[in-house]
Amino acid sequence: MDMHNFELTSKLPNRCEGKKQYTRFVKEFSDWYAKGKMSELVSRDTRFMLELQKQKLQSFGLDMQLKFGKPNTSDARPALLSYEDSVFENYIVGANKHITTTIRSSGKEIYSRDEDGGLSVVMQDLKYGSAPSPDTGMCCPNCGSPSTIGRLMSGCEFCGTKFLMDELYPKVMHIFVERRGKPVFDTKQIKKYILVCALVFLPIYILLNLFRADIGGAERITNYIYAVPAALIIGVMLGTGAWFFVNAIRSVMLMGKTARGGSTVLKSLIFCNKMHELDPTFSTEYFRDRSTSLLKFMLYSPQPQELAICRCKKPVPEKLREIVDITYGNSGVNKYKIRNGVCDVSLTFYTDSLHYHRGKIISKSDKIHISLRKVIKKPTDLGFSLTAVSCPFCSASFDAAKVGECPFCGNTYPLEENEWVVTDIRI
Ligand SMILES: [Zn+2]
Ligand SMILES: [Zn+2]
Repeated sequence: MDMHNFELTSKLPNRCEGKKQYTRFVKEFSDWYAKGKMSELVSRDTRFMLELQKQKLQSFGLDMQLKFGKPNTSDARPALLSYEDSVFENYIVGANKHITTTIRSSGKEIYSRDEDGGLSVVMQDLKYGSAPSPDTGMCCPNCGSPSTIGRLMSGCEFCGTKFLMDELYPKVMHIFVERRGKPVFDTKQIKKYILVCALVFLPIYILLNLFRADIGGAERITNYIYAVPAALIIGVMLGTGAWFFVNAIRSVMLMGKTARGGSTVLKSLIFCNKMHELDPTFSTEYFRDRSTSLLKFMLYSPQPQELAICRCKKPVPEKLREIVDITYGNSGVNKYKIRNGVCDVSLTFYTDSLHYHRGKIISKSDKIHISLRKVIKKPTDLGFSLTAVSCPFCSASFDAAKVGECPFCGNTYPLEENEWVVTDIRI
């Protein structure tokens, strides 16, 4: 993918700070699943997404735990990248982790997986020396009421807490958990293959020896004594062969998996270039993250049709409603149309999802199609928050994730001018 507004940087003033915040977030993220305590670092929109997921799990009577430990195989140091607009700097911090996922249904474990993978977050911070407009929507970190930065700094209207700019940033805007599954060519498994082959061969060897008519009693006994070492030798020969064969097939399958969505790369590039021409703040990274968030809102909500971002005419397919967790694999643009200042785009997401079906958790590789729409009148506002918007008619703040009309003046909030809305979702 191309990298508009995107640079590999080592001279960030916030570089060390970013890694420190990341370490804090990893701990708080596990705590959210274990103790239900929400991380103070996450943006309100991310918080909303996590809460939706918990509600959905609860609606099925499920409890999910995620734990992040040191990876078995790879380097655990965090890496950092950044992209920015005139006010905000977004940086991606990620590290390899060992991930344990456990799902319980009324106390009984129904799913458990242990694997190496990664945890990456997109954090938003203020650019050095820049200040966001006091009208930038933001929820009070203390009581959660929708407000603006200016009002939070002079004291929240609801709980009275005053905030310094330092306390409002940085924020975790997006979370990506990557599960790599079992390592390719897992050498720990060789022993298992050898043992299985030896155990299969041992009774065959004994039986063959028993029915051989051409050998005498003494020779037969000697053959029995050699049965175990002979089975082991055969086990090593056949077992390593079988191990290699199985792993070679798996590595090809994994390559296929990471290459999913390859056919959409060109279309995505053309789309992102076109959008970047119309909106200089638009970047592929911004769009990937934002569209992934919208997909998560749709999948994790127990009632997706009631979300303000949902403008779908058709109901959400049952198969999508089974999903309780997704791992992002890849995404790409299938087609897009820009007409009269309105952009319609259809995307395909390649995900590994956990489905809850008939009392069981099933892990599946899915291809999810989603169509989005946005009015492209003004440049993308990286500070935009769905859960704390300012009404353009009366300038009151409210949560646009839940209501479509301003509760103060009753006007319909023009969501499509500020945010992508979902017009269709299919699997
Ligand atoms: Zn407050
Ligand atoms: Zn209003």
